[in-house]
Amino acid sequence: MGNRWDVKYKNLFQGLYISSFNKESFSDYKMKPPAEPFKIKVIEPVRVPSEQERKEAIRKAGFNTFLLLSDDVYIDLLTDSGTAAMSDNQWAGMMLGDEAYAGSKNFYNLEKSVQDVLGYKYLVPTHQGRGAEHLMYSNLVKPGQLVPRNMYFTTSKVHVELPGGKMVDVIIDEAHDPENTNPFKGNVDFNKLQKYIDDYGADKIAFVNVEMNVNMAGGQPVSMENLRKLREFCNNYKLKIIFDATRSSENAYFIREREKGYENTPIVDILNEMMSYSDGCIYSSKKDCLVNIGGFLATHDKEIFEATRSMVVVYEGLHTYGGMAGRDMEAVARGLREGAQYEYLKYRVNQVRYLGYLLMEAGVPIVKPTGGHAVFLNALKFLPHLARDQWPAQTLSAAIYEDSAVRTMERGAISKGRDSETGENIFPKLELVRLTIPRRVYTNTHMEYTANSVINLYEKREIIPGLKMVYEPKYLRFFQAKFEQLPL
Ligand SMILES: *Cc1c(COP(=O)(O)O)cnc(C)c1O
Repeated sequence: MGNRWDVKYKNLFQGLYISSFNKESFSDYKMKPPAEPFKIKVIEPVRVPSEQERKEAIRKAGFNTFLLLSDDVYIDLLTDSGTAAMSDNQWAGMMLGDEAYAGSKNFYNLEKSVQDVLGYKYLVPTHQGRGAEHLMYSNLVKPGQLVPRNMYFTTSKVHVELPGGKMVDVIIDEAHDPENTNPFKGNVDFNKLQKYIDDYGADKIAFVNVEMNVNMAGGQPVSMENLRKLREFCNNYKLKIIFDATRSSENAYFIREREKGYENTPIVDILNEMMSYSDGCIYSSKKDCLVNIGGFLATHDKEIFEATRSMVVVYEGLHTYGGMAGRDMEAVARGLREGAQYEYLKYRVNQVRYLGYLLMEAGVPIVKPTGGHAVFLNALKFLPHLARDQWPAQTLSAAIYEDSAVRTMERGAISKGRDSETGENIFPKLELVRLTIPRRVYTNTHMEYTANSVINLYEKREIIPGLKMVYEPKYLRFFQAKFEQLPL
């Protein structure tokens, strides 16, 4: 004890409710790559395209990584959604798919898994997360109502707006600051929530929506204390709480690592307690469940269950498959249990942290602390010589591909789009490049390769030229926009 890490983090934690802290929680603690809790049985060959091929591919794609062919990519860090590697146990389960229209045994396995791991009594399966959002939110939101949430997520926002609602942000201010190292940057700010209730009245609030390990904030967790207090707070106003539990297992890991009293608690017990503070949840299985497709909603509330179960047959499929094949439900049933194992989660979160650590050691500016699923580069600090309308994050993402065939994603002004009233570009505070790590897919050597490429670019950052947008689609422009390189 008493080394510089201890002193640094003791100071950082003054005033917070965590008394016992874990040095490994922080990306800049001197760390070694985490050992994988699995061995490799099947491999998929990949190759690094030549320098010439990369140069041509990124120009053909208009400097937009969404327009690259997967074949031209060596390490694909575009997203962690649906990109996980399944286990031998999951693949074996797929052979046991019971493709009955009604009453498939895989549905009952999934129901049992959700009851055991998350503690919800009722389950409605859907084809993926947004199918569950559609059923849950169209059922609970009336026109003109507000849905307070800790930040936002793209599909969630749309499914609140379609029935006439509006999503409003009640996350703590720290979440919007890339340098702030608060261990629970996903927490709800009760003052912000109270203000909406005071200004609009509790009957104008459809429900309170809480996302686990907030994606748009960098994969940042919510604390158990925050959830417990939120339940008490909402009980006073008879407000329902619905979780976006998509990344709840990774959130549970952070609670165990960082919150006093949970140091030795099994992850499944942490998950059960978390969910006990909600009325129900929506869940995209494509992340923490270690599968390529699937989703569901789950609830303790019989009324929500009956209303959504009667709608699932209209939009998704019968209530015992909801748009998934029997084999897919079996893979989710097994993946939900595997994804809640402590040894797996420890490796998972530490692999992401290892990449962050390598970058921080070299002085590369990233969002701190690293989250559960991704490392975010701060493009404004990385390429300070570029003006905002030379698109620093887009530029950096394209440059990383050209350097090493690693595919990343812009999360900044291009993603944010234009103001719908003035038509002007919006330049958000965060201008980031996201390096999202698929689960169990890449080795620690792949992380080192990626870090080397980013560090290499950082060392010659002044000679990276900016971009000019030459094609801009009307909606969600980040998917299809095209760019050309400006002279330096
Ligand atoms: C992916 C995701 C969704 C939507 O789920 P899909 O399976 O992609 O439809 C909803 N919320 C969060 C937080 C997500 O990450």
